[in-house]
Amino acid sequence: MATGRELKEEGIGRALDNPVSAPWRVLAQDALLTIIKDGSPIPFTSEDITARVGQPPHPNQVGALMNACAQRGWIRRVEMTTADRAIRHASLISRWTPTSLGRTEAERYLPLASVIRPIGGGPICPECTRPLVDLVPLLGGYVMGKCIDHGKQEARTP
Ligand SMILES: [Zn+2]
Repeated sequence: MATGRELKEEGIGRALDNPVSAPWRVLAQDALLTIIKDGSPIPFTSEDITARVGQPPHPNQVGALMNACAQRGWIRRVEMTTADRAIRHASLISRWTPTSLGRTEAERYLPLASVIRPIGGGPICPECTRPLVDLVPLLGGYVMGKCIDHGKQEARTP
């Protein structure tokens, strides 16, 4: 039987690899950065994000986003708390606080978000969800493009 950690890591990988999740991730990441920028509420939970952008197509994507942002050093876990959502009744979720890197990212990226995001949704970087530029079509509905932070990335055309 798989351990909780293995299941968690598998879930994170699956949620992040799922190109269908891209539009929700973009919205949710903007919501997370907006919470950081506005400082409200701090500390926050993933429920503060889903309250703004709704639930993702797959429930794993909420935790995957929080973990990805923590790995990027934007947020850090403060403590565990009880989830409010009825469906997660009695389950524990993390309370997060932004790091100074997260604050810098929110200041830097949010003003750009509405400007550089392709209208109607173009391919985005799987690492950070920024729009990719210099697109080269690949087979099977994929493109190769460049992210300003992550260089060459392969992405699915939405
Ligand atoms: Zn990127």
